[in-house]
Amino acid sequence: MNTDIPLDTSTQHDQHGRWPQAESVEDFRHNLAAVHARITAACQRVGRDPTGVRLLPVSKTKPEASLRLAYAAGCRALGENKPQEAYRKWEALADLTDLQWSVIGHLQTNKAKLVARFATEFQALDSLRVAEALERRLQAEGRGLDVFVQVNTSGETSKYGLPPDEVAAFLRELPAFSALRVRGLMTLALFSAEAERVRECFVLLRGLRDRLRQDAPAGISLDELSMGMSGDYEIAIEEGATVVRVGQAIFGARATPDAYYWPSAGEGETN
Ligand SMILES: *Cc1c(COP(=O)(O)O)cnc(C)c1O
Repeated sequence: MNTDIPLDTSTQHDQHGRWPQAESVEDFRHNLAAVHARITAACQRVGRDPTGVRLLPVSKTKPEASLRLAYAAGCRALGENKPQEAYRKWEALADLTDLQWSVIGHLQTNKAKLVARFATEFQALDSLRVAEALERRLQAEGRGLDVFVQVNTSGETSKYGLPPDEVAAFLRELPAFSALRVRGLMTLALFSAEAERVRECFVLLRGLRDRLRQDAPAGISLDELSMGMSGDYEIAIEEGATVVRVGQAIFGARATPDAYYWPSAGEGETN
């Protein structure tokens, strides 16, 4: 692991593509322990209690066999970016009845039906159309869903999420959707090797959450801040993350370019 990279000057995004593949339960145990140790260390630096940070392992692009190894190593929740891929894996792993699924990527209304059927959490809510589609499908399934509102904190036009100044008005509409339990805000930081620029995104999300929480609509809780991934989760924790979404540092590097998941990932920002 890269324990000697100084947090204050650099993220680990330049490590991209070099995370070793986890191929055994032992590998997963090792990687999970290493990430937990870094979470604890980050919490200690800023006087936080590590139990206030939830690690969400992200299994996108990884095959069923590798998800089973992660489960055997103790993972009971997995994050997936694409609804269809997540749904397929949920079906394939239906025997693991205590495994929960979190959809963390952009949703089109025509896929709301899938998410409503199996997910326990959706972290990328950013439009009323999607809220309406989910509500309708969830009512039909007799289910509820924990949701996070995604905010675009990097200002990159191609990133998903609401602009920060539209979040307050958006939240005011959400009490109408009784199947959606609003838990907090989510963001993807700028994809950059420069820690300070990444940190600004996290600071912005926390500041926004703190302001909005003061007069949040009834029933809307903004306790959670989902921010941080393999390359920057320690910075996110220093800035208040309560959920970190970590894929490659647990599962190993992905072959699929991240541009497939976030249109702007890596554009001139990875050096
Ligand atoms: C893939 C993904 C992550 C995890 O990224 P890693 O680099 O694998 O840690 C986090 N959040 C979202 C929305 C993702 O799609």
